[in-house]
Amino acid sequence: MIKAPWTKEQVENLNRFQKFEYTHPFTCGNNGCGDELVAHEEGWKCPSCDYTQDWAHEHMTLFTKEIDEQYRTKDPLQGD
Ligand SMILES: [Zn+2]
Repeated sequence: MIKAPWTKEQVENLNRFQKFEYTHPFTCGNNGCGDELVAHEEGWKCPSCDYTQDWAHEHMTLFTKEIDEQYRTKDPLQGD
């Protein structure tokens, strides 16, 4: 687990991971909200309320464009 603040690159990777179709994104922990969190250099923020979160899993911060593209070009039914 890795705590904010994050670098610009880490923030980009985190937000890319949020859009990754094979995992469930981080969502707001406030009751009745549940919106998808958005990463900023100072931590996660909910776009709909004042909820914040200051940690992420390390692998999420390593989710580069290259890795994302590898998944996109691979047929998930065929495996490796
Ligand atoms: Zn919220």
